[in-house]
Amino acid sequence: MRRVRLLVFNAALGALDYRVPDGMTVEYGSVVVAPLGPRQILGIVWESERLGAKEVPESKLRPLLDVMPVPPLPATLRRLIEWTADYYCAPLAAVARMALGSTAALRGGGTTTEYRLTGAEPARLTPQRAAAMDALQGEQGSIRELADLAGVSEGVLRGMVGAGLLEGVTVDLDRPYPPARPDFAVPDLSADQRAAADRFVAAVAEHRFTPFLLDGVTGSGKTESYFEAVAEALRRGRQVLVLLPEIALTENFLRRFEQRFGVPPILWHSSVKSSERRRAWRAIVHGEAQVVVGARSALFLPYANLGLIVVDEAHEVSFKQDDGVRYNARDVAVIRARFESAPVILASATPALESMQLAEAGIYERVELPDRFGGATLPEITVLDLRKDPPERGRWLAPPLVEAMRERLERGEQSLLFLNRRGYAPLTLCRNCGYRFQCPNCTAWLVEHRFSRRLACHHCGHEVPAPETCPECGTADCLVACGPGVERIADEVAEILPEARVAVVTSDTLNSADAIGAFVAAAEEGAIDVIVGTQLVTKGYHFPELTFVGVVDADLGLEGGDLRAAERTYQQIAQVAGRAGRGEKPGEVVLQTRHPEAAVIAALADGDRDAFYAAETEARRDAGAPPFGRWAAIIVSSEDQAEARDAARAIGATSPKAPDIMVLGPAPAPMALLRGRHRYRLLINARRSAELQKYLREWLEPLEFPRGVRINLDVDPYSFV
Ligand code: ADP
Ligand code: ZN
Repeated sequence: MRRVRLLVFNAALGALDYRVPDGMTVEYGSVVVAPLGPRQILGIVWESERLGAKEVPESKLRPLLDVMPVPPLPATLRRLIEWTADYYCAPLAAVARMALGSTAALRGGGTTTEYRLTGAEPARLTPQRAAAMDALQGEQGSIRELADLAGVSEGVLRGMVGAGLLEGVTVDLDRPYPPARPDFAVPDLSADQRAAADRFVAAVAEHRFTPFLLDGVTGSGKTESYFEAVAEALRRGRQVLVLLPEIALTENFLRRFEQRFGVPPILWHSSVKSSERRRAWRAIVHGEAQVVVGARSALFLPYANLGLIVVDEAHEVSFKQDDGVRYNARDVAVIRARFESAPVILASATPALESMQLAEAGIYERVELPDRFGGATLPEITVLDLRKDPPERGRWLAPPLVEAMRERLERGEQSLLFLNRRGYAPLTLCRNCGYRFQCPNCTAWLVEHRFSRRLACHHCGHEVPAPETCPECGTADCLVACGPGVERIADEVAEILPEARVAVVTSDTLNSADAIGAFVAAAEEGAIDVIVGTQLVTKGYHFPELTFVGVVDADLGLEGGDLRAAERTYQQIAQVAGRAGRGEKPGEVVLQTRHPEAAVIAALADGDRDAFYAAETEARRDAGAPPFGRWAAIIVSSEDQAEARDAARAIGATSPKAPDIMVLGPAPAPMALLRGRHRYRLLINARRSAELQKYLREWLEPLEFPRGVRINLDVDPYSFV
């Protein structure tokens, strides 16, 4: 190639053409350095007809400066990037950026310096140095990472290097990973598991696009079954990607993987330190990384030779990214598998309705594990009607639920209380004047966190110290906490069952690998009697002595009332119920509700999953909602309310007529203010036959707005706030 077109990482620049100087060879997918004015920019050599830019005359082309020493991004990945940008109406540049991970990794291997404690123990230390000494035991990382870990400035740590308390170590960025062994510890599979595993193994062997829905009840051994497919990919020297919905779940997965394959898998998520990310990225692009487990961002990495994708807990909404490129990693994983000619396994005990529908239609192959492994039974679910059996005044746990926990405590078994609300109380108000603490940047109340004595916004992170007096009327001792969060429930348990050892499990408390490890160890050793947690404890964990699950407020998830509220409630409660009775002792689940007649509550109590899915499916069909129709949202925002409103109206006024598309709005978003921006929404409902993306592009591309206005497109939205 003598002239090339580049995809560059600034969407505003469009595609740019360059000349390839003599002596340089590039291919499609090569990552190159190019001049732009006085600057140097990175770009990817791309098939020019796919980028559609104006031809620049030969004489005006400037030469490329350099080629990065990494293999070209594979064609399958380039097609995936194009597909994603096209489907989600996102800039190619923004999608391509997700494939590169870090620019440092492009520069090649070599070494870097990390720091760790030397072991010296001086007699006197400043408080900051002492704190750093404590926090950094057993840690190693760049000065910046260690400063974050220890909560001190980088200056403090440099001082400690000077004083001989920290030392530098040279780290080889390309040091190889020890190989995973497919036959390290092969389990004895049950007949159902064997049948499932055989299907997966055959598909891996064929190296053909095969989408599976692994539909197995909680505790059925879905992981054990798909591990056989992982083993087959390992034997054939192909790479495997396992996507998990949350970083918090990776710890547990790591352990199980290591028990099965002898070494941990390669981790990829935002908290992996930079030198490890470089190492992982380079191993991935060279085809040396065998199994990568990560959050959704691992999906766009440049695997050299992908042979299998697993999406575990595939129904989880956290696979949908709601900022930057708004894509759904579960759906894109299936597309990636298609481009790579590889099988993809969507594993869940409560599949998304969309996935169920595709299995019904025969597009996904359904593989079922209907029973728990080892003869364990599914727990009994009962409904506790709070209107008949109310808790005592000022309390949240009704007497029968408390009784059930007391029994478990006496028998030395564990209980889990689930409430999907962090903090102590979701709302604080003044008894005297009625003042409510609200976030100045968002349409949201400030949530009291009693452990940290703060009021915090869960949307923008705004925080204030918990006040003593009302800021409005100045009265002291007049502030009341309204409603419960997990911290408040934990207090209540401590009052009612003073001898119980209680653990609060939320993203506030389980915020590091160490914290997660400590929690799991304590729960397994029986050092915890009652776990009070948010959705973080609803999946992945296996505690054999846990025999009781109490859902504090089964109605909570139905409040928002969006399209998927009932489905989400069903999934969440079925998942948390699935933590009970996983060992030899049977489990019991109690749902506290004020609406026992609600279809979703009744279906849970009857264990009638099919009826629930059937009713939901019909409701969706009637509403023309996904998967029968398609939706897209346009979110218009600005720091200036009038500007946002006018832009939203201008969009609404220009919507093109189309027979199979309906536009609703604009209307102020339920979250009318978010991070200081005023927001309006439009909702587009299209028949499946409609060319939705084309419609959106032709509608929005000609429009121009003031600089402060941001227009976000959300295709297949999950969030409606
Ligand atoms: P799921 O993901 O379907 O909820 P898991 O994969 O977590 O279920 O399995 C539940 C428990 O049963 C785990 O502790 C797992 O190790 C164990 N288990 C499942 N299948 C087997 C097997 N074939 N041999 C040994 N243990 C198994
Ligand atoms: Zn806020």
